[in-house]
This record gives sequence, structure tokens and C-alpha cells, in this order.
Amino acid sequence: MAIRFYNTLTKTKEEFRPITPGKVTMYVCGPTVYNLIHIGNARPMIVFDTLRRYLTYKGYDVNYVSNFTDVDDKIIQRANEEGVTAAELSQRYIMETKKDMAAMNVLPATTHPLATQEIDGMIRLIKDLEEKGFAYNVNGTVYFRTRKDPSYGKLSHKNLDDLRSGFRDLKVTGEAEKEDPLDFVLWKPKKEGEPFWKSPWGDGRPGWHTECCVMSRKYLHATTIDIHAGGEDLIFPHHENEIAQVECSTGQEFAHYWLHNAFLNIDNVKMSKSLGNFKTVREVGEHYDLQVLRFFMLSAHYRRVLNFSADIMNSAKASLGRIRTAVSTLNDRIANAPADALTDAEREKLGVDKNGKRMDFTVTTDPETGAECIPQDMRQYRYEFEKAMDDDLNTADAETAIFNLVKFANVEVKPDSSRAFAEAVKKEITDLSGILGLIVDVKEENLDEEIEKKIAERNAARKAKDFARADAIRDELLAKGIVLKDTREGVRWERK
Ligand code: AMP
Ligand code: ZN
Repeated sequence: MAIRFYNTLTKTKEEFRPITPGKVTMYVCGPTVYNLIHIGNARPMIVFDTLRRYLTYKGYDVNYVSNFTDVDDKIIQRANEEGVTAAELSQRYIMETKKDMAAMNVLPATTHPLATQEIDGMIRLIKDLEEKGFAYNVNGTVYFRTRKDPSYGKLSHKNLDDLRSGFRDLKVTGEAEKEDPLDFVLWKPKKEGEPFWKSPWGDGRPGWHTECCVMSRKYLHATTIDIHAGGEDLIFPHHENEIAQVECSTGQEFAHYWLHNAFLNIDNVKMSKSLGNFKTVREVGEHYDLQVLRFFMLSAHYRRVLNFSADIMNSAKASLGRIRTAVSTLNDRIANAPADALTDAEREKLGVDKNGKRMDFTVTTDPETGAECIPQDMRQYRYEFEKAMDDDLNTADAETAIFNLVKFANVEVKPDSSRAFAEAVKKEITDLSGILGLIVDVKEENLDEEIEKKIAERNAARKAKDFARADAIRDELLAKGIVLKDTREGVRWERK
């Protein structure tokens, strides 16, 4: 099956064909680091980390680059307020962002370039654009000449004349010196108290749109990259302006596939730093396991608006809990299995051959109903999962496939099942969940820890001769399927 993505550039779902077979070059615009990231920023991180994991699972060697914008008006302003340098402030928040990413099980990028380390490359790009007539300097501010780029506007599909007249009304931008209202800044002169770099146009710093053009191609080692991604607010002007610079400089296409996630809303309004209606990943992490946040983010297709609410988070928590409980039961079945090897019936249920290897199958279509005919054994869930992921990264349906697999596990794996059978089913659940970055085998950690705590509490109650409390705890655990056994070595527990 081919992987297909919705490409913002062509407004259609297209089959994914990487430039170099077997390899993927992918760039995701990272956050501007002046405070803790909010869960809106976490959406592209989780979504595109999942895409990266899926492409890796499909056998691609993925080079994944995501930057940190570490010089910006807001960073400078915040640093001045705190009385620290912009570099100190951004370094602090890069560290904090990396901690949040790890807590959400977002893998570190192959490279995380910093804008401030790449100024030379940006100056070279701006110089090249100037030499080719695509940039002009007005008193130390260098602008991109949008009118000279015949393709300008191709990503956002905007009506440029409408935009131009709209901008013309906004005369107070302080950019009256521009040749055209749509021209954007490539280099800006320094202001008092701001970090600056030397350049042919005087001391100053690059514009934001120039940063990603340079960092993406440098660390992906390519003129044209496969995938460029970010939140949909970046389509215009950020990505439009990136395309303009790179394509006017190189004469070649910048990226083949442009992928954009929809917003994460709160109370149906976009969550953003500027509106102040955000929740940081850190705050959410105080109330929920961040795996719940990850599950929640993936429970909607990435191009659909997702609204954050306690209700939806609680239902995500319950859903993730269902998968974890199934895995925990499987662990128990594995530990207590009466036999090791697969029976013939179990082999059939898994769809594996005599050597335990998953058998290939071809999907046929029922000529009458048009429905797909797929084997009615465990293989169907991975098939459903991949089909969903191949279809423009439909993680919502991929989660459903995992649930169907969990149902299969709950029905088919019994106390008398073989160890190999329980292990195979467990591996299928943990593998598919792992592609979504979900950790579902928490045997040694959370679940057991909770039970151990309860047992300690019951022991303390018994010591204090509070037998009513001790019995209440035993009943509470029993309701959860945990049976306590008083043995000579102390209290033991097992799952019913
Ligand atoms: P910023 O730090 O604002 O440049 O944002 C970093 C990344 O987070 C970009 O890809 C943004 O598009 C994305 N982003 C910011 N806010 C949201 C939101 N509420 N929902 C989804 N993505 C967002
Ligand atoms: Zn960018």
C-alpha cells in the first residue's frame, strides 16, 4: 500500500514518493523559545513525531530536522524584562522544551539547529537573492521583492491583489519604504540593546522567514527536501515566504510535500501565546500522565481542529487505560500460562505459519458489496492500522484499530492460552501502540505501584487493628480484579 498525504501545495492527497528511494528528508518548524511550550505547540511535535515513527516503521531512513528560533522580538523583550541576555533566556527554554518533548515521548530530532548558529548561511542566501534582483536594501533593511517572483502565493492560494489592497490600508506598519505591501523583511538593522551580527547591509539580524530556508537544507543535505511541515498558521506568510526565497535563489523546488496540522483550540478559540489562553505542557503534566495528552492529540485527524477540554482528556485517559489494562492482563497470562507453545487453533487465530511467522495475504474485494475481504484473524488489525496511517496519517482510525485488537485480546487470550499466544498478542498491541509513540506496557510502573501502595495501606490498617478498613481495601482491589492472598512470605496478589 502506498502512503498518501494531503499536500497544501496542490490541495490534493498525493502518493508519497521520496526523492531518494528508502530515504526521507523532513523539516518541521520548531517553537520560538521565550517561555514554556503550550499544548498547541505540542500538536505539531506529536503529530509529526508520529509521522516520523511511521515512516521509520515502513522502512525509511528518516532525517528529521526541527529548529529552535532563538532570536526574535519576543525573546529579546522577555530577556530585557528579566535582566538576562537573549541567549541565556533562549537556552533555558530550549532545555525546558526538550524536557517536555521527552515527557511526551517525542523523539529528539536528528538535528535541532539554532537560528543564531546559522547567521552566515542566512547572509549568504540574502546576498544571493540581492544579486539575482530578488532583494533590495533600504537603509539597512533588506526586503524580498515579491513582485519579481511569478510563483509567489502558490502555497497559500491567496488572492494577492486582495492581500495587497488589504495591506495598503494598513499604512502604519512603518514599512512605507517597501516597493510592494507584500514584500517581507530578510534582514533588519539592530536597535539599541538588541543582539546583532555584522553583514554587508550593516549590523542587524535576519528575518524569521529566512532562518528555516537555511537550516532545513543545510541539515537535510539537500536543495529539494521531501516534507516540510508545521501548524497551519505558518502557511502564510511563513512558508509562502520560505518557498519564495529558496526557489528564487536555487531555481528548484524547495519541498515536495507541505503538511500542516490544524489548531488546538481551547473553548473553541485557537490556543496561543499572544492570546494568553494557553495551557503549558508542564501544567497538563501535573494533572495527567502526558501519554494521555499524546493519546488525545492523536485521537483526531491532524487536519481537524481539536478542542481541549477536561471531558475529552478524561475520556482519553480511560481509553489509554483500557489498552494498558489489556496489556497488564496479558502480562499476567504470560506469567501464569500452563503451556509454552502455540496450539494449531492459536496459530490460526494469529494468522501465522508453523514457524510462527505471520503469513502474507492479499486483499480481495467482494464483487457484490465492494467490501474488502481480509483474513478474520489477528492480522486484520495491523492491516487496518496501516491502512489508516497510509491514508494521510489517520491516527484516529489507527487508534480504533488498536482498540479492535484489544477487544480481540480480551476475548481470545484466556487463562489456559499458551505463553506464546499471549506473548504474540501482547507484542502486537505494544508494537502498534509504539508506532504512535504510546507506552502501554506499564507493568512495573504505575499499575503495580498503585496496587503495592494499597497493600501497604491494608497492612498498616491490620497492624492498627482497623479490620474494617483492611477489608474495605481488599474489596476495593477485588473490584478491580486483584485478588490478595495472605501467605507466609507476606501478602501476594494476582489478577483474576
Ligand atoms: P510558535 O512558537 O508560535 O512559532 O509555534 C511553533 C509551532 O506550533 C508552529 O508549528 C505553530 O504552527 C504551532 N502552533 C502554535 N499554536 C498552535 C495551536 N494552537 N494549535 C496547533 N499548532 C500550534
Ligand atoms: Zn519555519
